[in-house]
Amino acid sequence: MIATRPTATEATVLDIAGRRIGGEHFAMIAGPCTVESREQTLQTARIVRDAGATMFRGGAYKPRTSPYAFQGLGQEGLRLLEEAKVETGLPVVTELMDVRDLEPLLEVADVIQIGARNMQNYALLTEVGRCERPVLLKRGLSSTLEELVLASEYILKEGNDAVMLCERGIRTFETAYRFTLDLTAVPVLKELTHLPVLVDPSHAAGRRELVTPLSLAAAAVGADGIIVEVHPRPEEAICDGAQALVAADFAGYLERVRDAAALAGKVLTHVLPAGALA
Ligand code: PEP
Ligand code: MN
Repeated sequence: MIATRPTATEATVLDIAGRRIGGEHFAMIAGPCTVESREQTLQTARIVRDAGATMFRGGAYKPRTSPYAFQGLGQEGLRLLEEAKVETGLPVVTELMDVRDLEPLLEVADVIQIGARNMQNYALLTEVGRCERPVLLKRGLSSTLEELVLASEYILKEGNDAVMLCERGIRTFETAYRFTLDLTAVPVLKELTHLPVLVDPSHAAGRRELVTPLSLAAAAVGADGIIVEVHPRPEEAICDGAQALVAADFAGYLERVRDAAALAGKVLTHVLPAGALA
């Protein structure tokens, strides 16, 4: 097993377009659930960049429970993500659902997200294992940690060693909120593997009031980063508006999460100002 190899006593630290994640490096990945329009995408990207986010998230291909719900802008969405990346300098995290979209997605994605619903899509995992791009693998809605680690092994086994795991809430008997955020998964995954472990508080919570407390807890428990949904006008969002942080509040939120990460000995990965990398 590569994910759990006993020789890996040190935590894996990934370098994603100059931003480190893992070890002492904490990443804040923020952006809308879905790329909806040019204005919404660029506005959100600017706000999270200015606040100090590490990377930008946004879906062009959306896994929706109903086949009649908005499925994402597809290639046009990728184009808008590219524009946001060029303008802000933020690396882009976006979801891949179909191997036929891999080539265009690789044109813009700095990190390929594999969503919870595809955690056990082994053909998809094998394919992303064959490219060199970092992968953010989300835990399935009802998957055990062993199944998550074994899913990551499908990617690692093909030669791609840049894999991050993500706890995003699981199905339990509780119905008072969307999913149950399993924060025990963070220290346990760190016992089992050397891979960076992220937490997605947004999809677990289902409503924004819960996102800040869950984020603080995730950072304090030792997560290597957070992936969170942010929208300039959540009431107008096409998808997941109820759980999106209001973009105007994001800077204050990030400061609090940074302090919580410090409790676990981690430092937020800084984005250098444009031109500073040269
Ligand atoms: C997402 O991050 O946009 C998403 C759909 O999350 P999940 O796969 O965890 O439901
Ligand atoms: Mn979402």
